[in-house]
Amino acid sequence: MKKIDLVVGARPNFMKAAPLMDALQRRPDLFEPRLIHTGQHYDYDLSRLFFEQLKMKEPDIYLGVGSGTQAEQTARIMIELEKVFVDSRPDMVVVFGDVNSTMAAAIVAAKLWIKLAHVEAGLRSFDNTMPEEINRIVTDRLSDLLFVTEKSGLENLKKEGIPEERIFFTGNIMIDSLVKNLEIARRSPIVENLGLVRGGFVALTLHRPSNVDNPAVLKKLIEILTIIGRKIPIVFPCHPRTRNRLEEFGLKRIIDDRVIKIIEPLGYIDFLRLQAESKFVLTDSGGVQEETTFLKIPCITLRRTTERPITCEVGSNFLVGDDYDLLIRTADDILDGKIKQGRIPDLWDGRTAERIVEILARKM
Ligand code: UDP
Repeated sequence: MKKIDLVVGARPNFMKAAPLMDALQRRPDLFEPRLIHTGQHYDYDLSRLFFEQLKMKEPDIYLGVGSGTQAEQTARIMIELEKVFVDSRPDMVVVFGDVNSTMAAAIVAAKLWIKLAHVEAGLRSFDNTMPEEINRIVTDRLSDLLFVTEKSGLENLKKEGIPEERIFFTGNIMIDSLVKNLEIARRSPIVENLGLVRGGFVALTLHRPSNVDNPAVLKKLIEILTIIGRKIPIVFPCHPRTRNRLEEFGLKRIIDDRVIKIIEPLGYIDFLRLQAESKFVLTDSGGVQEETTFLKIPCITLRRTTERPITCEVGSNFLVGDDYDLLIRTADDILDGKIKQGRIPDLWDGRTAERIVEILARKM
């Protein structure tokens, strides 16, 4: 029986960990999985809602590290995780995506000579100003098993000299959660509750430091989004970080509620329906670029780079960076019905967790 610890910390981890936990629990003859939640996500109630909706078991261990600077948070996670791993040495630690908990757990496991697996390995934006890029590079360098979502990941890891026998193209585990929950999401009343109709609104998410931490950049972005919002209303489930910045910079007052409607961040199920029924999505999120690709909903990504190039190559994603003319033109094109027909990338089929478990069973 192999002891396997799944480490999660923030919103985008939960929908990646849930399918794997489920698949591991179906093999009690082979695996003894535990869920460790670092508490990097400071709103425990919100993360509890995700666990309920994703039908994932309550964390076995909750570290409650809270927020802080990049270094403070990473350090606190490392200190607490080291105690856990020394106490009850797992055979394998599995980390997801690119948050601080991912890298912190990777470093602690590697230094204790505990085998490490990274789910969503190999993605690169080639932009080291993103904290997530540093988390990805360090985690991949230390991992024994690297599970890759798209072909760019395979190429990046090969170029970085990661031995091929560690790398596995298993597909996109986040899509496992989407496939499982889409029918349930279709029954969510969120669109009606917001007074909206299918295809009659745009969904917006915004939380990357490059967009929200500089007052001039955020103000300009709101001005441009207001131009779009006058043509089609924008619904904005606002990340707590962004809400704080809007208040700090005194920008809330320039937002017209009828044009850009700010609401609380949504639970997973409601947000899936919001994406699925929107005319298009505006975002700087990583995961949302992938979910819209699967849903074939046009997505305009408010970033200069994407670590998920497949969403632009074959999916329905458009990268506009800070080219505001291009942003408005792309939105107008979509409103005029000029929509690129996307395709679902290989192995984004809802069965990634199964493939990962099969490899874990062979390699552990
Ligand atoms: N999401 C959500 N509620 C929201 C906004 C996003 O449940 O109000 C989900 C979204 O469907 C996706 C994930 O959060 O599954 C993406 O997480 P986030 O944008 O925080 O992180 P990133 O993917 O950029 O790392």
